[in-house]
Amino acid sequence: MSVVPWFATRYSRLLARLQSRRLHHGLLLTGPPGIGKYQFARLLAKSALCKALTPQGYCSACQSCLLFDAGNHPDMAELVSDKQLGVDAIRGGIAKLHATAQLNGNKVLVIPQAHRMTEPAANALLKTLEEPTDNTFLVLITDRPQQLLATIVSRCEKHVMPPPDTEQALGWLREQGVDDATPALLHAYGAAPFTLLQALREETGIAYRTFREGLDTLLAGGNDAVTLATQWQDSAPSIVGWLQQYAHEQCVQYPNASSFSLFEACTQANRMLQNPGVNKVMILSCLLAEIKQSV
Ligand SMILES: [Zn+2]
Repeated sequence: MSVVPWFATRYSRLLARLQSRRLHHGLLLTGPPGIGKYQFARLLAKSALCKALTPQGYCSACQSCLLFDAGNHPDMAELVSDKQLGVDAIRGGIAKLHATAQLNGNKVLVIPQAHRMTEPAANALLKTLEEPTDNTFLVLITDRPQQLLATIVSRCEKHVMPPPDTEQALGWLREQGVDDATPALLHAYGAAPFTLLQALREETGIAYRTFREGLDTLLAGGNDAVTLATQWQDSAPSIVGWLQQYAHEQCVQYPNASSFSLFEACTQANRMLQNPGVNKVMILSCLLAEIKQSV
């Protein structure tokens, strides 16, 4: 995978500093979710480990690059976690940084979702940030920097990663084989091209396209709200999120009482769905009926 266009300038700058051995040992990448921060960190890690780095980046041919691509580079560690990152996980990662580099080069520890570190874990990491070992790089990633300890943030070089503009994101999605992405589809996924791509690849639950076709049919009078709501009940949170996006577009295009009330109804439905055991068919059918009435 090559660097995404919206990070390209930053990547070249960091590569140049890596080559001249002036790259900070602790990097903190922040920015909205789904814009490719993690993939960027991996590109950077692969470059830092490459034995034949050029100004364009890693070589993809040296032993280090081959090991990296195979997912078993001995001097690269990632602390991926769905839950909290405890002190043991952090200590394990740090131990790897302190070990001698097996390929006689750099060592890299990547921590996606760095805000998931517990306070003891963050304190364990702090020591490494304050007293770095030679040739080691720590790359912390988060979309919630406010949840990190201030001391961690202050020891890192901060990079606020920019989100792509719509054209950049759609162009990149086309390169990934998604030919029919639209601005509306992108915004239904929080303007996050990586989130959209993943959702399309996984296709769990109701796909956005199915939703949009169903909605269009409903608006054209070819379907009724209760039937759709029954079909969609298992994906209710996604459906309500997409409906809210639709309502938002309506508010922008037709700023009137009915579009505002629709948006408000979606917000309320979102809140109601937080309660387990709520009647999802009823919530969805009320919303869909309101949408049908509003056009
Ligand atoms: Zn290489």
